Amino acid sequence: LPSSSIRGVVHGGAGGRRIPVGLRKRPMRIVVTGGAGFVGSHLVDRLLDRGDSVIVVDNFFTGRKENVVHHFGNHRFELIRHDVVDPILLEVDQIYHLACPASPVHYKHNPIKTIKTNVMGTLNMLGLAKRIGARFLLTSTSEVYGDPLEHPQKETYWGHVNPIGVRSCYDEGKRTAETLTMDYHRGAGVEVRIARIFNTYGPRMCLDDGRVVSNFVAQALRKQPMTVYGDGKQTRSFQYVSDLVDGLVALMESDHIGPFNLGNPGEFTMLELAQVVKETIDPSATIEFRPNTADDPHMRKPDITKAKQLLNWEPKIPLRQGLPLMMSDFQKRILDEK
Ligand code: NAD
Ligand code: UDP
Ligand code: UDP
Repeated sequence: LPSSSIRGVVHGGAGGRRIPVGLRKRPMRIVVTGGAGFVGSHLVDRLLDRGDSVIVVDNFFTGRKENVVHHFGNHRFELIRHDVVDPILLEVDQIYHLACPASPVHYKHNPIKTIKTNVMGTLNMLGLAKRIGARFLLTSTSEVYGDPLEHPQKETYWGHVNPIGVRSCYDEGKRTAETLTMDYHRGAGVEVRIARIFNTYGPRMCLDDGRVVSNFVAQALRKQPMTVYGDGKQTRSFQYVSDLVDGLVALMESDHIGPFNLGNPGEFTMLELAQVVKETIDPSATIEFRPNTADDPHMRKPDITKAKQLLNWEPKIPLRQGLPLMMSDFQKRILDEK
């Protein structure tokens, strides 16, 4: 069928063929960049579970083979060690673009590499999407709002971001990635989706990635004091990983471009989080104050009205229910270290 003659042709198929809505073949072929990482590996589980074929593209900077090893031998699963800063040729229907270090410790480790990943990596994946007519989803971040002057943050807020600070490789990098995504959409007709992800936790997070949930949980399990940065009154809103995966898939399958905030609006100070970890893991856990890092946002909480209305999505798992779900994975990996 010549695509131009079909009303509602909105997404592409592998190999540049345009496939009209409703005629798209299932199962699909899907690339997940960063699929050996924390969020990516849970997304891969979901896509394989529903019968699709998945190609993971990952350079293993923060990702681990252990996160996807349970799929080795599945003929619908393929793992490619590749850096998205370099071009790649693939034939797929959808691209979930997650490749990028996400924790401050990792993205500050090599800031130039982080911004190259955000800019050149995203450009390459958009070039790929354009060539093959695939639908492209960018995992952006709540960090695009910077240290927000609007609370909670709506998608219409343009942010308050330091362009020359130590976090800029990440937050400005993601802002540029969003710009590229919209320009490929407007300029080249690529079908795009943008998710702005708020702090997410769950099994398979790196143990020592410096993020607050993984730090507190690992510290409590190791019987070390939980390190609270600054006065601990800064806030974050924590989302369990399966809720995020639901949101990413709902967004990809929807007819909406976004951006969409994907996060749990339950807001906690770091002191409150430490208290929840203490109640969940070890009532004798203690805290220790440390100086805070530069440009740390004072508060963060998503307004998810848009995702609720248009994607019919909202998170289901509150912090007190989600934290216990990551304990056994952390416990096992901490024991394996010994
Ligand atoms: P993660 O570090 O566990 O996963 C990132 C993955 O990308 C890793 O497997 C890593 O090896 C891979 N990667 C990094 N640079 C690459 C490159 N140049 N080429 C190929 N692969 C590369 O982090 P995550 O928490 O799973 O985050 C996934 C995505 O979600 C990231 O884009 C991140 O910015 C976004 N995000 C996550 C959170 C969160 O709280 N987890 C919040 C906001 C946004
Ligand atoms: N690209 C890629 N895989 C493809 C198609 C393109 O990695 O299948 C890369 C390409 O090498 C380029 C980027 O994506 O660096 C942008 O591609 P585009 O075609 O939009 O731009 P151009 O190559 O014309 O600069
Ligand atoms: N934080 C903390 N103790 C830690 C690690 C982080 O108090 O051991 C604080 C940090 O200062 C920030 C919040 O927790 O205010 C969230 O930090 P994280 O690195 O998890 O995420 P992000 O800053 O990217 O939201």
